[in-house]
Amino acid sequence: MTESHTHRVIPLQDLRPASFALPQAVQLPGKRVTAIGLLQDTRGRALHDLRISVTDRCNFRCNYCMPKEIFNADYPYLKHADLLSFEEITRLARQFIAHGVQKIRLTGGEPLLRKNLEQLIEQLAVLRTLDDKPLDITLTTNGSLLARKATALKAAGLQRVTVSLDGLDDAVFRAMNDVDFPVTDVIDGIEAAQAAGLGPIKINMVVKRGTNEQEILPMARRFRGTGMVLRYIEYMDVGATNGWRMNEVMPSAEVIRLLQTELPLVPLLASQPGETAQRWGYADANGHYDPQLGEVGVISSVTQAFCHSCNRARLSTEGQLYLCLFAEKGYDLRQLLRRGASDADLANAIGHIWQGRDDHYSELRSVLAPDTGAPVKRVEMSYIGG
Ligand code: SAM
Ligand code: SF4
Ligand code: SF4
Repeated sequence: MTESHTHRVIPLQDLRPASFALPQAVQLPGKRVTAIGLLQDTRGRALHDLRISVTDRCNFRCNYCMPKEIFNADYPYLKHADLLSFEEITRLARQFIAHGVQKIRLTGGEPLLRKNLEQLIEQLAVLRTLDDKPLDITLTTNGSLLARKATALKAAGLQRVTVSLDGLDDAVFRAMNDVDFPVTDVIDGIEAAQAAGLGPIKINMVVKRGTNEQEILPMARRFRGTGMVLRYIEYMDVGATNGWRMNEVMPSAEVIRLLQTELPLVPLLASQPGETAQRWGYADANGHYDPQLGEVGVISSVTQAFCHSCNRARLSTEGQLYLCLFAEKGYDLRQLLRRGASDADLANAIGHIWQGRDDHYSELRSVLAPDTGAPVKRVEMSYIGG
Protein backbone atom coordinates (compact mmCIF):
# COMPACT_ATOMS: atom_id res chain seq x y z
CA MET A 1 0.00 0.00 0.00
CA THR A 2 1.47 3.36 -0.94
CA GLU A 3 1.22 6.51 1.11
CA SER A 4 -0.70 8.20 -1.68
CA HIS A 5 -3.36 5.52 -1.54
CA THR A 6 -3.81 5.93 2.18
CA HIS A 7 -4.97 9.47 1.52
CA ARG A 8 -6.75 8.84 -1.71
CA VAL A 9 -10.19 10.42 -1.84
CA ILE A 10 -12.64 10.12 -4.70
CA PRO A 11 -14.60 13.37 -4.93
CA LEU A 12 -18.26 13.04 -4.10
CA GLN A 13 -20.13 14.42 -7.06
CA ASP A 14 -22.36 13.09 -9.81
CA LEU A 15 -19.93 12.06 -12.46
CA ARG A 16 -22.25 9.81 -14.33
CA PRO A 17 -23.01 11.92 -17.41
CA ALA A 18 -19.27 12.50 -17.88
CA SER A 19 -18.20 8.99 -17.02
CA PHE A 20 -21.00 7.59 -19.07
CA ALA A 21 -18.62 7.83 -22.01
CA LEU A 22 -20.51 6.67 -25.01
CA PRO A 23 -20.17 2.94 -25.22
CA GLN A 24 -17.98 1.79 -28.01
CA ALA A 25 -19.90 0.74 -31.06
CA VAL A 26 -18.80 -2.79 -31.67
CA GLN A 27 -16.81 -3.31 -34.84
CA LEU A 28 -16.86 -6.67 -36.51
CA PRO A 29 -13.38 -7.31 -37.90
CA GLY A 30 -12.87 -9.59 -40.88
CA LYS A 31 -11.76 -12.84 -39.26
CA ARG A 32 -14.72 -14.40 -37.48
CA VAL A 33 -14.47 -15.92 -34.02
CA THR A 34 -16.47 -19.11 -33.95
CA ALA A 35 -18.08 -20.03 -30.65
CA ILE A 36 -16.62 -23.34 -29.57
CA GLY A 37 -16.01 -22.63 -25.91
CA LEU A 38 -12.27 -22.09 -26.17
CA LEU A 39 -12.13 -18.35 -25.86
CA GLN A 40 -9.12 -16.76 -24.15
CA ASP A 41 -8.28 -13.12 -23.50
CA THR A 42 -4.81 -11.58 -23.98
CA ARG A 43 -3.81 -12.94 -20.55
CA GLY A 44 -4.97 -16.47 -21.24
CA ARG A 45 -8.12 -16.17 -19.13
CA ALA A 46 -11.19 -18.15 -20.20
CA LEU A 47 -14.75 -16.82 -20.16
CA HIS A 48 -16.68 -18.72 -17.52
CA ASP A 49 -19.08 -16.42 -15.63
CA LEU A 50 -21.58 -13.89 -16.87
CA ARG A 51 -23.10 -11.34 -14.52
CA ILE A 52 -26.26 -9.75 -15.83
CA SER A 53 -27.59 -6.57 -14.31
CA VAL A 54 -31.37 -6.43 -14.70
CA THR A 55 -31.97 -2.98 -13.21
CA ASP A 56 -29.93 0.06 -12.19
CA ARG A 57 -32.45 0.92 -9.47
CA CYS A 58 -32.43 -0.07 -5.83
CA ASN A 59 -34.58 0.42 -2.75
CA PHE A 60 -31.45 0.73 -0.54
CA ARG A 61 -28.90 3.51 -0.52
CA CYS A 62 -25.86 1.69 0.88
CA ASN A 63 -23.37 4.49 1.25
CA TYR A 64 -20.54 2.46 -0.30
CA CYS A 65 -22.58 1.83 -3.44
CA MET A 66 -25.41 4.34 -4.04
CA PRO A 67 -24.86 7.31 -1.71
CA LYS A 68 -28.19 9.09 -1.42
CA GLU A 69 -26.76 12.55 -2.04
CA ILE A 70 -26.07 11.37 -5.60
CA PHE A 71 -28.68 8.68 -6.20
CA ASN A 72 -31.62 10.96 -5.47
CA ALA A 73 -34.81 11.75 -7.40
CA ASP A 74 -32.81 13.74 -9.97
CA TYR A 75 -30.49 10.87 -10.82
CA PRO A 76 -30.70 9.86 -14.51
CA TYR A 77 -31.81 6.24 -14.11
CA LEU A 78 -32.31 4.27 -17.29
CA LYS A 79 -35.65 4.52 -19.04
CA HIS A 80 -37.63 1.34 -19.53
CA ALA A 81 -37.09 1.32 -23.33
CA ASP A 82 -33.33 1.35 -22.72
CA LEU A 83 -33.34 -1.87 -20.72
CA LEU A 84 -32.67 -5.14 -22.46
CA SER A 85 -35.88 -7.16 -22.67
CA PHE A 86 -35.88 -10.70 -21.26
CA GLU A 87 -35.81 -12.04 -24.82
CA GLU A 88 -32.75 -9.93 -25.63
CA ILE A 89 -31.00 -11.03 -22.44
CA THR A 90 -31.73 -14.68 -23.18
CA ARG A 91 -30.55 -14.37 -26.76
CA LEU A 92 -27.27 -12.84 -25.64
CA ALA A 93 -26.91 -15.40 -22.85
CA ARG A 94 -27.08 -18.16 -25.48
CA GLN A 95 -24.12 -16.66 -27.32
CA PHE A 96 -22.10 -16.33 -24.13
CA ILE A 97 -22.85 -19.95 -23.32
CA ALA A 98 -21.69 -20.94 -26.79
CA HIS A 99 -18.37 -19.32 -25.85
CA GLY A 100 -18.08 -21.38 -22.68
CA VAL A 101 -20.07 -19.54 -19.99
CA GLN A 102 -21.29 -22.00 -17.35
CA LYS A 103 -22.61 -19.70 -14.68
CA ILE A 104 -24.98 -16.74 -14.77
CA ARG A 105 -25.49 -14.39 -11.87
CA LEU A 106 -28.42 -11.96 -11.94
CA THR A 107 -27.68 -8.74 -10.17
CA GLY A 108 -28.27 -4.99 -10.25
CA GLY A 109 -29.21 -2.55 -8.63
CA GLU A 110 -31.65 -4.70 -6.75
CA PRO A 111 -32.59 -7.49 -9.16
CA LEU A 112 -35.81 -8.38 -7.33
CA LEU A 113 -37.17 -4.95 -8.25
CA ARG A 114 -37.27 -5.97 -11.93
CA LYS A 115 -40.87 -6.81 -12.76
CA ASN A 116 -41.58 -10.46 -13.58
CA LEU A 117 -37.98 -11.50 -13.04
CA GLU A 118 -39.22 -15.08 -12.63
CA GLN A 119 -39.99 -15.10 -16.37
CA LEU A 120 -36.37 -14.34 -17.21
CA ILE A 121 -35.22 -17.07 -14.84
CA GLU A 122 -37.55 -19.53 -16.55
CA GLN A 123 -36.06 -18.61 -19.92
CA LEU A 124 -32.50 -18.97 -18.68
CA ALA A 125 -33.14 -22.15 -16.72
CA VAL A 126 -33.78 -24.21 -19.84
CA LEU A 127 -30.43 -23.30 -21.42
CA ARG A 128 -27.67 -25.94 -21.34
CA THR A 129 -23.93 -25.47 -21.21
CA LEU A 130 -21.67 -26.63 -24.04
CA ASP A 131 -21.16 -29.96 -22.27
CA ASP A 132 -24.95 -30.29 -21.96
CA LYS A 133 -25.20 -29.56 -18.25
CA PRO A 134 -27.80 -27.26 -16.68
CA LEU A 135 -26.59 -23.71 -16.36
CA ASP A 136 -25.61 -22.61 -12.85
CA ILE A 137 -28.05 -19.74 -12.18
CA THR A 138 -27.78 -17.60 -9.12
CA LEU A 139 -28.80 -14.14 -7.96
CA THR A 140 -27.37 -11.51 -5.62
CA THR A 141 -29.93 -9.57 -3.62
CA ASN A 142 -30.19 -7.24 -0.66
CA GLY A 143 -32.82 -9.65 0.66
CA SER A 144 -35.53 -7.05 1.22
CA LEU A 145 -38.05 -8.77 -1.09
CA LEU A 146 -36.83 -12.31 -0.63
CA ALA A 147 -39.39 -13.41 1.95
CA ARG A 148 -42.13 -12.63 -0.58
CA LYS A 149 -40.38 -14.03 -3.64
CA ALA A 150 -38.24 -17.00 -2.60
CA THR A 151 -40.77 -19.71 -3.48
CA ALA A 152 -41.57 -18.27 -6.91
CA LEU A 153 -37.86 -17.81 -7.70
CA LYS A 154 -37.14 -21.43 -6.86
CA ALA A 155 -40.12 -22.61 -8.90
CA ALA A 156 -38.86 -20.60 -11.88
CA GLY A 157 -35.54 -22.48 -11.81
CA LEU A 158 -33.23 -20.32 -9.70
CA GLN A 159 -30.75 -22.56 -7.91
CA ARG A 160 -29.12 -20.38 -5.27
CA VAL A 161 -29.01 -16.89 -3.85
CA THR A 162 -26.36 -14.67 -2.35
CA VAL A 163 -27.77 -12.22 0.18
CA SER A 164 -25.93 -9.06 1.15
CA LEU A 165 -26.02 -8.33 4.86
CA ASP A 166 -23.60 -5.92 6.49
CA GLY A 167 -24.40 -6.59 10.13
CA LEU A 168 -26.90 -7.99 12.62
CA ASP A 169 -27.21 -4.93 14.80
CA ASP A 170 -30.38 -3.17 13.67
CA ALA A 171 -29.03 0.35 14.13
CA VAL A 172 -25.84 -0.43 12.20
CA PHE A 173 -27.78 -2.13 9.43
CA ARG A 174 -30.32 0.69 9.10
CA ALA A 175 -27.52 3.25 8.94
CA MET A 176 -25.64 1.30 6.27
CA ASN A 177 -28.63 0.78 3.99
CA ASP A 178 -29.49 4.43 4.67
CA VAL A 179 -33.21 3.92 4.11
CA ASP A 180 -33.90 2.73 7.65
CA PHE A 181 -34.64 -0.83 6.50
CA PRO A 182 -34.86 -3.25 9.47
CA VAL A 183 -32.46 -6.16 9.67
CA THR A 184 -35.17 -8.61 10.75
CA ASP A 185 -36.83 -8.38 7.31
CA VAL A 186 -33.60 -9.47 5.61
CA ILE A 187 -33.16 -12.31 8.10
CA ASP A 188 -36.74 -13.39 7.30
CA GLY A 189 -35.80 -13.31 3.61
CA ILE A 190 -32.75 -15.49 4.23
CA GLU A 191 -34.86 -17.99 6.16
CA ALA A 192 -37.47 -18.04 3.39
CA ALA A 193 -34.73 -18.70 0.81
CA GLN A 194 -33.39 -21.54 2.91
CA ALA A 195 -36.87 -23.03 3.32
CA ALA A 196 -37.45 -22.75 -0.44
CA GLY A 197 -34.22 -24.70 -1.11
CA LEU A 198 -32.28 -21.81 -2.69
CA GLY A 199 -29.01 -23.04 -1.27
CA PRO A 200 -26.24 -23.26 -0.44
CA ILE A 201 -26.86 -19.63 0.47
CA LYS A 202 -23.96 -17.21 0.55
CA ILE A 203 -24.04 -14.12 2.72
CA ASN A 204 -21.96 -11.13 1.61
CA MET A 205 -20.78 -8.64 4.20
CA VAL A 206 -18.89 -5.57 3.03
CA VAL A 207 -16.58 -4.55 5.86
CA LYS A 208 -16.03 -0.84 6.23
CA ARG A 209 -13.58 0.14 8.94
CA GLY A 210 -15.10 2.50 11.43
CA THR A 211 -18.63 1.53 10.36
CA ASN A 212 -19.36 -2.18 10.84
CA GLU A 213 -16.18 -3.99 11.90
CA GLN A 214 -17.81 -4.71 15.28
CA GLU A 215 -20.28 -6.92 13.37
CA ILE A 216 -17.60 -9.32 12.08
CA LEU A 217 -17.71 -11.72 15.02
CA PRO A 218 -21.49 -11.64 15.63
CA MET A 219 -22.04 -12.43 11.94
CA ALA A 220 -19.64 -15.40 12.13
CA ARG A 221 -21.35 -16.72 15.26
CA ARG A 222 -24.79 -16.34 13.62
CA PHE A 223 -23.95 -18.21 10.41
CA ARG A 224 -21.47 -20.83 11.66
CA GLY A 225 -22.98 -24.30 11.47
CA THR A 226 -26.02 -23.19 9.42
CA GLY A 227 -24.84 -24.47 6.04
CA MET A 228 -24.67 -20.86 4.82
CA VAL A 229 -21.33 -19.43 3.78
CA LEU A 230 -20.52 -15.96 5.06
CA ARG A 231 -18.02 -13.98 2.98
CA TYR A 232 -16.35 -10.80 4.14
CA ILE A 233 -15.71 -8.40 1.28
CA GLU A 234 -13.11 -5.66 1.32
CA TYR A 235 -14.66 -2.26 0.68
CA MET A 236 -13.72 -1.40 -2.91
CA ASP A 237 -13.09 1.76 -4.88
CA VAL A 238 -15.72 0.89 -7.47
CA GLY A 239 -17.62 3.63 -9.24
CA ALA A 240 -16.91 7.29 -8.81
CA THR A 241 -19.33 8.36 -6.13
CA ASN A 242 -18.69 6.54 -2.87
CA GLY A 243 -15.82 8.72 -1.62
CA TRP A 244 -13.66 5.63 -1.10
CA ARG A 245 -10.63 5.94 1.17
CA MET A 246 -8.01 3.28 1.69
CA ASN A 247 -8.11 3.81 5.43
CA GLU A 248 -11.72 2.59 5.47
CA VAL A 249 -10.67 -0.75 3.99
CA MET A 250 -10.22 -3.50 6.55
CA PRO A 251 -7.81 -6.00 4.97
CA SER A 252 -9.09 -9.57 4.89
CA ALA A 253 -6.00 -10.77 6.74
CA GLU A 254 -7.10 -8.64 9.68
CA VAL A 255 -10.64 -10.06 9.49
CA ILE A 256 -9.23 -13.59 9.64
CA ARG A 257 -6.98 -12.70 12.60
CA LEU A 258 -9.98 -11.28 14.45
CA LEU A 259 -12.10 -14.38 13.78
CA GLN A 260 -9.26 -16.62 14.96
CA THR A 261 -9.27 -14.96 18.36
CA GLU A 262 -12.55 -16.76 19.06
CA LEU A 263 -13.24 -19.26 16.28
CA PRO A 264 -10.30 -21.41 15.10
CA LEU A 265 -10.00 -21.63 11.32
CA VAL A 266 -8.02 -23.71 8.85
CA PRO A 267 -7.39 -22.75 5.21
CA LEU A 268 -9.34 -24.68 2.57
CA LEU A 269 -8.51 -25.15 -1.11
CA ALA A 270 -10.43 -23.23 -3.77
CA SER A 271 -13.40 -25.25 -4.97
CA GLN A 272 -13.15 -24.01 -8.55
CA PRO A 273 -10.79 -22.02 -10.76
CA GLY A 274 -11.39 -18.27 -10.74
CA GLU A 275 -13.06 -18.37 -7.31
CA THR A 276 -12.97 -14.89 -5.83
CA ALA A 277 -13.16 -15.90 -2.18
CA GLN A 278 -10.38 -17.47 -0.16
CA ARG A 279 -12.00 -20.22 1.90
CA TRP A 280 -11.46 -20.94 5.58
CA GLY A 281 -13.03 -23.87 7.42
CA TYR A 282 -14.12 -23.78 11.06
CA ALA A 283 -11.94 -26.16 13.05
CA ASP A 284 -12.94 -28.66 15.73
CA ALA A 285 -11.22 -29.04 19.11
CA ASN A 286 -8.38 -30.97 17.40
CA GLY A 287 -7.72 -28.21 14.92
CA HIS A 288 -9.24 -30.09 11.98
CA TYR A 289 -11.83 -28.71 9.58
CA ASP A 290 -15.30 -29.63 10.77
CA PRO A 291 -17.76 -29.70 7.83
CA GLN A 292 -20.65 -29.51 10.31
CA LEU A 293 -19.44 -26.08 11.34
CA GLY A 294 -18.90 -25.06 7.73
CA GLU A 295 -16.74 -22.33 6.30
CA VAL A 296 -16.27 -18.59 5.81
CA GLY A 297 -14.67 -16.75 2.94
CA VAL A 298 -12.82 -13.50 2.42
CA ILE A 299 -12.82 -11.55 -0.81
CA SER A 300 -9.65 -9.48 -0.83
CA SER A 301 -10.29 -7.42 -3.92
CA VAL A 302 -8.12 -4.56 -2.66
CA THR A 303 -5.25 -6.20 -0.77
CA GLN A 304 -4.80 -9.34 -2.87
CA ALA A 305 -5.74 -8.92 -6.48
CA PHE A 306 -7.15 -11.98 -8.22
CA CYS A 307 -7.17 -10.55 -11.76
CA HIS A 308 -4.93 -13.39 -13.00
CA SER A 309 -7.88 -15.78 -12.77
CA CYS A 310 -10.75 -13.36 -13.43
CA ASN A 311 -13.09 -15.15 -15.83
CA ARG A 312 -16.13 -12.88 -15.52
CA ALA A 313 -17.92 -10.70 -18.02
CA ARG A 314 -20.62 -8.23 -17.07
CA LEU A 315 -23.66 -7.27 -19.09
CA SER A 316 -25.21 -3.98 -18.03
CA THR A 317 -28.94 -3.35 -17.78
CA GLU A 318 -28.92 -1.67 -21.18
CA GLY A 319 -26.75 -4.24 -22.90
CA GLN A 320 -23.23 -2.84 -22.59
CA LEU A 321 -20.60 -5.52 -22.15
CA TYR A 322 -18.00 -4.72 -19.48
CA LEU A 323 -14.88 -6.77 -18.99
CA CYS A 324 -13.91 -5.44 -15.57
CA LEU A 325 -15.66 -3.98 -12.55
CA PHE A 326 -13.38 -0.98 -12.88
CA ALA A 327 -13.80 -0.44 -16.60
CA GLU A 328 -14.40 3.03 -17.95
CA LYS A 329 -16.24 1.85 -21.02
CA GLY A 330 -18.44 -0.92 -22.27
CA TYR A 331 -19.21 -2.43 -25.65
CA ASP A 332 -22.64 -1.83 -27.08
CA LEU A 333 -24.25 -5.21 -27.70
CA ARG A 334 -27.77 -3.77 -27.61
CA GLN A 335 -27.01 -1.74 -30.70
CA LEU A 336 -26.02 -4.93 -32.51
CA LEU A 337 -29.12 -6.74 -31.31
CA ARG A 338 -31.48 -3.96 -32.30
CA ARG A 339 -29.87 -3.50 -35.70
CA GLY A 340 -30.67 -7.05 -36.64
CA ALA A 341 -27.38 -8.87 -36.00
CA SER A 342 -27.55 -12.62 -36.48
CA ASP A 343 -26.61 -15.03 -33.68
CA ALA A 344 -23.31 -15.66 -35.46
CA ASP A 345 -22.63 -11.88 -35.56
CA LEU A 346 -23.33 -11.61 -31.84
CA ALA A 347 -21.08 -14.55 -31.04
CA ASN A 348 -18.40 -13.09 -33.28
CA ALA A 349 -18.57 -9.72 -31.51
CA ILE A 350 -18.43 -11.29 -28.04
CA GLY A 351 -15.48 -13.43 -29.16
CA HIS A 352 -13.51 -10.46 -30.50
CA ILE A 353 -14.21 -8.36 -27.43
CA TRP A 354 -13.06 -11.10 -25.04
CA GLN A 355 -9.97 -11.92 -27.11
CA GLY A 356 -8.90 -8.27 -26.84
CA ARG A 357 -9.38 -8.12 -23.06
CA ASP A 358 -6.41 -7.01 -21.01
CA ASP A 359 -8.16 -5.67 -17.88
CA HIS A 360 -6.38 -6.22 -14.55
CA TYR A 361 -7.20 -3.11 -12.57
CA SER A 362 -6.75 -4.56 -9.08
CA GLU A 363 -3.21 -5.60 -9.91
CA LEU A 364 -2.49 -2.06 -11.05
CA ARG A 365 -4.24 -0.24 -8.20
CA SER A 366 -1.21 0.02 -5.97
CA VAL A 367 1.07 1.24 -8.76
CA LEU A 368 -1.31 3.73 -10.34
CA ALA A 369 -0.45 7.41 -10.24
CA PRO A 370 -1.55 9.12 -7.04
CA ASP A 371 -4.93 10.77 -6.99
CA THR A 372 -4.78 14.05 -8.88
CA GLY A 373 -8.24 15.19 -7.91
CA ALA A 374 -9.38 14.66 -11.50
CA PRO A 375 -12.84 13.11 -11.88
CA VAL A 376 -12.78 9.33 -11.84
CA LYS A 377 -14.42 7.91 -14.94
CA ARG A 378 -15.68 4.59 -13.77
CA VAL A 379 -18.92 2.82 -14.19
CA GLU A 380 -21.06 2.49 -11.04
CA MET A 381 -21.50 -0.90 -9.38
CA SER A 382 -25.29 -0.41 -9.27
CA TYR A 383 -25.20 -0.13 -13.08
CA ILE A 384 -23.13 -3.18 -13.98
CA GLY A 385 -23.83 -5.22 -10.89
CA GLY A 386 -21.45 -6.58 -8.28
N1 SAM B 1 -28.49 -5.08 -4.62
C1 SAM B 1 -27.93 -6.37 -4.59
C2 SAM B 1 -27.14 -6.60 -3.32
O1 SAM B 1 -26.84 -5.63 -2.63
O2 SAM B 1 -26.84 -7.75 -3.05
C3 SAM B 1 -27.08 -6.73 -5.80
C4 SAM B 1 -26.19 -5.67 -6.36
S1 SAM B 1 -24.86 -5.15 -5.31
C5 SAM B 1 -24.08 -3.95 -6.32
C6 SAM B 1 -23.80 -6.57 -5.38
C7 SAM B 1 -22.78 -6.67 -4.28
O3 SAM B 1 -21.86 -5.63 -4.41
C8 SAM B 1 -23.34 -6.60 -2.87
O4 SAM B 1 -22.94 -7.73 -2.14
C9 SAM B 1 -22.70 -5.35 -2.32
O5 SAM B 1 -22.47 -5.44 -0.95
C10 SAM B 1 -21.43 -5.28 -3.12
N2 SAM B 1 -20.83 -3.94 -3.16
C11 SAM B 1 -21.42 -2.79 -3.57
N3 SAM B 1 -20.57 -1.75 -3.47
C12 SAM B 1 -19.41 -2.27 -2.98
C13 SAM B 1 -18.14 -1.70 -2.64
N4 SAM B 1 -17.88 -0.40 -2.79
N5 SAM B 1 -17.17 -2.53 -2.18
C14 SAM B 1 -17.41 -3.86 -2.04
N6 SAM B 1 -18.58 -4.44 -2.34
C15 SAM B 1 -19.57 -3.65 -2.79
FE1 SF4 C 1 -28.54 -1.44 -3.54
FE2 SF4 C 1 -27.02 -3.57 -3.48
FE3 SF4 C 1 -25.95 -1.20 -3.97
FE4 SF4 C 1 -26.86 -1.69 -1.54
S1 SF4 C 1 -25.16 -2.74 -2.56
S2 SF4 C 1 -27.26 0.16 -2.74
S3 SF4 C 1 -28.56 -2.99 -1.95
S4 SF4 C 1 -27.36 -2.23 -5.26
FE1 SF4 D 1 -11.53 -8.92 -12.66
FE2 SF4 D 1 -11.22 -6.32 -13.06
FE3 SF4 D 1 -11.66 -7.26 -10.60
FE4 SF4 D 1 -9.30 -7.71 -11.81
S1 SF4 D 1 -10.12 -5.74 -11.19
S2 SF4 D 1 -10.53 -9.20 -10.67
S3 SF4 D 1 -9.98 -7.95 -13.94
S4 SF4 D 1 -13.09 -7.37 -12.33
